[in-house]
Amino acid sequence: MSDRSIRSIAIVGGGTAGWMAACLLSQTLRGTGCAITLVESPDIGTVGVGEATIPPIFDFLKLIEVDLDAFIPATQATFKLGIKFDDWRAIGDSYWHPFGTFGVSIDRRPFHHVFHKARAQGLDPTAPQFSLAAALGDAGRLAHPDPRVPGPLAGLRQALHFDAVLVARFLRDHAERRGVRRLEREVAEAKLRDDGFIEALALKGGGELAADLYIDCSGFRGLLIEQALGAGYEDWTRWLPCDRALAAPTAHAGPPPPYTQAVAMDAGWRWRIPLQHRVGNGYVYSSAFIDDGAAQDELLSAIGQPLAEPRKLSFTAGRRKTMWSRNCVALGLASGFLEPLESTSIHLVCSGLYKLLDHFPDRDFASVNIAAYNRALADEYETYRDFILLHYCVTARDDTAFWRDRTAAPLPDRLAERLELYRACGRVDAKPGELFTDLSWFYIFEGMGVTPKAYDPLVDASNFQQVRAVLPELTARIAAVVAQSPTHEAALAAIVRRSAA
Ligand SMILES: Cc1cc2nc3c(=O)[nH]c(=O)nc-3n(C[C@H](O)[C@H](O)[C@H](O)COP(=O)(O)OP(=O)(O)OC[C@H]3O[C@@H](n4cnc5c(N)ncnc54)[C@H](O)[C@@H]3O)c2cc1C
Repeated sequence: MSDRSIRSIAIVGGGTAGWMAACLLSQTLRGTGCAITLVESPDIGTVGVGEATIPPIFDFLKLIEVDLDAFIPATQATFKLGIKFDDWRAIGDSYWHPFGTFGVSIDRRPFHHVFHKARAQGLDPTAPQFSLAAALGDAGRLAHPDPRVPGPLAGLRQALHFDAVLVARFLRDHAERRGVRRLEREVAEAKLRDDGFIEALALKGGGELAADLYIDCSGFRGLLIEQALGAGYEDWTRWLPCDRALAAPTAHAGPPPPYTQAVAMDAGWRWRIPLQHRVGNGYVYSSAFIDDGAAQDELLSAIGQPLAEPRKLSFTAGRRKTMWSRNCVALGLASGFLEPLESTSIHLVCSGLYKLLDHFPDRDFASVNIAAYNRALADEYETYRDFILLHYCVTARDDTAFWRDRTAAPLPDRLAERLELYRACGRVDAKPGELFTDLSWFYIFEGMGVTPKAYDPLVDASNFQQVRAVLPELTARIAAVVAQSPTHEAALAAIVRRSAA
């Protein structure tokens, strides 16, 4: 360790973001002598609603050495094979954004280009015919990815749904076992040095906590990044007008499906996330188009009797102008917020942490290093924003003012360019490393009824008679895996039994 190394880290906030940060930083810095303290208020609750994840969650859990057989029962987790969107393109219409591979690449052309040609040739292909995840989801069954078996199982990917409160508790125990110190205190304010860096945190009731590096995981309030350092907020309401959510759990009315459901509503959309012990529901809506009372009536008439009073949350879509300022890095809700339509928030915590490790500072806090971090994260936020916006901007719905407004609103330039490119030739041009690949974009374009004028001309280099013969074989291989797979419920019960044993 150089004498300029970070010797101490203070994390403010014990929600999902705070404890994820504590786990990864304690894992990475073990043996360096760097002391990590997490301070969480006994009186300020967590948001506690982040329940759906995306496949990279498994990489994170592996990195921090979590035993899945312990984690899945302890967090009441279920498996997620993708998201099923209902009523988005038109009422009564459904489509999938499944995880994992789609068909097979033919003569090195990605399968979605072959799919476009098949349609141009008068065939009537559908996305779930060529996605194992979607086919399993529709059948309520679960298989696990197996890279050793050639065929659809090799390309399958999964994520988890979990109870956010139980996750924070699990990660807290995990981090404490690795030496993270937990302080149950409320931070009254951050004291700043003359150069604007944070010197110490003043604790309510007396006492201070000082550190070299501060991680702000204090939720929407952004106690350090905004209230102390005034980072500023880039407001994206003009593109994503939903600014409220009502969350309410219900009991299971049947076996838990292995996917998240996102149902379009009058002034937003509703999530349905099955856990082992209950179903999480919530209505994400725009207060400009519906009042809270009407939103609650609409939610309850869709989900039936809740197990608890609906809980209201308010937010503004957007991100901090800088997510790292001086000696403070904001993660989770303190860094920004995108509605949970594609379950990106928890992933953004992981991603912010990985980028922090890639740009880990010393006590000189080089400003170019901080700028590089901020650029990378801002770019990531913007691509996720555009991807979420795509779900709205091409809708054919015009039955409420909210939906009519979605197609009228102007688009960010980058999204407008992607839309034009796709409409012309079925391409997306997602950059290497982008979370949502060309395939993810394809699923949303296809599901929302955007069909390209032309398909990739290189697909014509393949013998289409042979390709045509392969298509039913692919569907049959998927059907064979589905037929052999247990129900999601049985697969979960097996994990819980194994864990108990
Ligand atoms: C409606 C909704 C649905 C969502 N659904 C999903 C989803 O499906 N998937 C997904 O990935 N994400 C989802 N999210 C986002 C997800 O909930 C958050 O990203 C995640 O929970 C992280 O929250 P957090 O830890 O940043 O903040 P919080 O959970 O708000 O935690 C803040 C912490 O800061 C502490 N704190 C605050 N002030 C002080 C103080 N002065 N002193 C000491 N401690 C303090 C609090 O005690 C608390 O421990 C959703 C969010 C919302 C609003």
